[in-house]
Amino acid sequence: MTKLRQEHRLVNPAVTRQVVRQNGFQFKKSLGQNFLIDEEILDQIVSAANLTKETGALEIGPGIGTLTQALAEHAGTVVAVEKDARLIPLLSSTLQEYPNVKVYQGDILEMDLAALWLDSFAQLPVSVVANLPYYVTTPIIMKLLEERLKIEHIVVMVQKEVAQRMAARPGGKEYGILSIAVQYYTVPQIICTVPKTAFLPEPGVDSMVIRLTVRKEAAVDVPNQEVFFAVVRAAFGQRRKTLLNNLQSNFQVNATAFSSTKEFWISLLSDIGIDPGRRAETLSLAEFAAIAKKIPPN
Ligand code: SAM
Repeated sequence: MTKLRQEHRLVNPAVTRQVVRQNGFQFKKSLGQNFLIDEEILDQIVSAANLTKETGALEIGPGIGTLTQALAEHAGTVVAVEKDARLIPLLSSTLQEYPNVKVYQGDILEMDLAALWLDSFAQLPVSVVANLPYYVTTPIIMKLLEERLKIEHIVVMVQKEVAQRMAARPGGKEYGILSIAVQYYTVPQIICTVPKTAFLPEPGVDSMVIRLTVRKEAAVDVPNQEVFFAVVRAAFGQRRKTLLNNLQSNFQVNATAFSSTKEFWISLLSDIGIDPGRRAETLSLAEFAAIAKKIPPN
């Protein structure tokens, strides 16, 4: 496959403008349509994904195909899922040089990804690479992680604050449920900060590229994952309350209230050496796991 010359690539702002104009394409803000026009950022995304001809790549939201072109030149197989039906004919033209790309029209949140993996990637190691639509970043990331698909890396452009929350360590105000969920399944690493000028049209917020390297095993060993996340959710119920008050008023499993006294929680926490007066944002994943392990099965 021949590489497209720089002046023909979509990441070149003049080419993107021309494709948009020639197709009479109107951007839809509601679908988070901000197309990448910065070659340096594109190169950083692609190199963070560690792609080779023996790997596959899933792209979520290819837009007009800017990132897809680069992925197709580095990976063996590329699957791109685009929700906006107007972009499908346009993608068949911008990606015509690339026989290793399959484009599907659909909402990534509604797709059967296990079947897609089986059909398209067989035994290939896969990275998910995307300049995500910001209105659905968290549900998309959580779907990819919770479905336990065989993924090596997730390299995504997201809103700067969201990247900071995913990578946050205990102790700061960014650390919360998203940090714990992401770090339970992956090791996050911020790749770069991206200015608004890297997109057409410019979004209202700054962005970051983050790489989530999927762990072979979860970061902490818990007998019951549901109970672990129920503890985390309860503990962060109201940020200004103590761990004790949050656990006592919010802890529930499978939407069923867990009836327990203040004394129950004080004794559980002191057994594992956690001060009940601490706030959730100071607890490590291992400490949340220790709490979850102490809760009797119902
Ligand atoms: N990848 C292109 C780029 O970097 O220039 C476009 C990125 S743009 C930020 C996000 C893309 O995701 C848009 O093309 C949008 O139509 C698409 N999209 C929005 N919601 C989606 C969803 N639920 N499933 C699949 N694609 C979606």
